[in-house]
Amino acid sequence: MPKGQRKYKGTQKVDSIVIREKPDYLIVEYLDKKRGCICEIYNGPGDYVWEYASYVPSMNFYTLRVSKLLEIDKTVPANEKIEAVVPIEKFCKGEIKFQGIQKEEKSFKEQSSKKGKTLITGYVNRNNQENLGCLNKPGNHYNQMLYAMRCNNCGFEYEANGCDVAIRKCPSCSR
Ligand SMILES: [Zn+2]
Repeated sequence: MPKGQRKYKGTQKVDSIVIREKPDYLIVEYLDKKRGCICEIYNGPGDYVWEYASYVPSMNFYTLRVSKLLEIDKTVPANEKIEAVVPIEKFCKGEIKFQGIQKEEKSFKEQSSKKGKTLITGYVNRNNQENLGCLNKPGNHYNQMLYAMRCNNCGFEYEANGCDVAIRKCPSCSR
């Protein structure tokens, strides 16, 4: 599973992160060793930040500016963020760590977080897909329930794992 992690140490200036490929989700955190805390820089879909990634051909990786991540983070709707089990402070300055998260990994993280508003009947995600309610039968991901979904563009109804409600696209329209 592709994911990146890199720490910056000492007095080195921290102004960007390095990442190999576009993640489905991205979490960037700042580790403050003096205070012993973690602050959040970015938490949201990879889509939103990827257009700002600069490719470095000689190294075969991309860089993303921390200032840009902070800026985009403010525009990420709360329901598209990976819910923290313990709330994290927003970024100040210092050492940075980050993690690109693929979808399977996100569903795993959600198992340990409380039920989000995406699982409430009537929730409509940004692809205009509406949650019609829990079907009370197990999904095909570990520890996930199935939800009835309806595309508000074409009316197509289908089933989705709870962890996918927020990001599902219509299987009919997007075919
Ligand atoms: Zn549709």
